[in-house]
Amino acid sequence: MSVLDWVIVGGGPHGVCAARALQANGAQLRIIDPAGELLQRWSARARAVGMTWMRSPVSHHVDRHPTDLHHFLHRRDNADVANLARPFLRPLHAAFLRHAQHVIAREGLQRVVVRGRVEALQRDGDSLVVEGDGVLLRTRRVLVATGSNQVRIPEWARQLQAQGAAIHHMFGRGPQLANDIVGGGISAVQCALDVWRRTRQLVRLWIRRPIHIADFDTEQLQTRSRFVGRWSRLKPDQRCALLKGQDHRGRVPPGLWTRLSQAIARGRVQLREGGFSVQRVRAGQLVLCGEAGSVETDGLTLATGLRPEQLGGWLRKAADRLDLPVQANLPRLQRDMHWGRGVYVCGPLSRLRLGPMASNLIGARWATSLLPGVTMQPY
Ligand SMILES: Cc1cc2nc3c(=O)[nH]c(=O)nc-3n(C[C@H](O)[C@H](O)[C@H](O)COP(=O)(O)OP(=O)(O)OC[C@H]3O[C@@H](n4cnc5c(N)ncnc54)[C@H](O)[C@@H]3O)c2cc1C
Repeated sequence: MSVLDWVIVGGGPHGVCAARALQANGAQLRIIDPAGELLQRWSARARAVGMTWMRSPVSHHVDRHPTDLHHFLHRRDNADVANLARPFLRPLHAAFLRHAQHVIAREGLQRVVVRGRVEALQRDGDSLVVEGDGVLLRTRRVLVATGSNQVRIPEWARQLQAQGAAIHHMFGRGPQLANDIVGGGISAVQCALDVWRRTRQLVRLWIRRPIHIADFDTEQLQTRSRFVGRWSRLKPDQRCALLKGQDHRGRVPPGLWTRLSQAIARGRVQLREGGFSVQRVRAGQLVLCGEAGSVETDGLTLATGLRPEQLGGWLRKAADRLDLPVQANLPRLQRDMHWGRGVYVCGPLSRLRLGPMASNLIGARWATSLLPGVTMQPY
């Protein structure tokens, strides 16, 4: 078995961004992903919410220079997706994806993809052995880019699911999305508008607290790159406390809020705000009781987002086996995203190092630019 320079675990935007930069630096690498295809989960989740516009600006993408996507959209053959939403110059999701696929093809990244799921990581002499279903690779370094893996399912929904109720998470495998949707964040609103577009039937959006209209899903200061410098000067305990205190669920950008308000005014979407309860009645039917009365429905979609990623499974075992430093069940990373013993981390698991934006595209750019040997301008 020859020894690779890098194995990247996860073929999402973070894995692609890092792979492009490391390969440009001459690294011999492989990307492992269960889909055997890059950006598969990203695309599936975007499809599930019927995502039209990106939340992030045009400078957040997987290529080298912050202006690369903008230049790409100036090409005549991309005129159909070249619109940018002001004031933050957000590109269309179709534009982001077309550009990402262009980068993948240009760099031949699909050729280095290995289909499989990593299940174990261990040290053998000077190298690391990466093992899993369909995978056995030896490498000097590993980059963990596994994204967010746990959907958020409220306890009441879990109990009803156990009784066979037709309640499905929008990012899970299940039947088509229902016209009753629980959740008050950006994905829930996008999902409600998309379900109306597809079914032309009234959609009820059940939210427990009022929608918060905000441009970004975190404080704007935290989206600025200077923030990472300030963040890394905080003591680890302070960072843990700040991460714990953050709850930015239920934020919707003003443009999307306008579209939702129009849909409400046209009677396409009903906002059911305040406390509500859900009961299962006969033959799979559910009754939702809210402040404005009860309704009967044959299915419920949870648009309740993803749980903050924590160490678990194979990675937790690898951390114990390799004696890697852990705080608050998150990797404690060095400046260059090195966790220890040749293991590097990016994405949501790197938030102790990069802050709350670690899981977003800007987090991918920050993390990649810090990897050893990479020269890349993140912003
Ligand atoms: C609907 C939606 C819209 C978003 N929009 C934006 C936006 O506009 N701007 C922005 O900045 N951020 C956005 N985000 C947040 C973030 O950028 C995305 O979640 C992005 O996909 C994160 O990329 P990733 O590579 O970390 O994760 P993913 O895209 O989830 O990729 C991780 C990959 O790792 C694989 N994997 C997991 N475990 C293993 C294993 N053991 N072995 C091998 N492979 C494994 C997974 O199958 C997956 O393919 C959005 C998120 C969602 C859900």
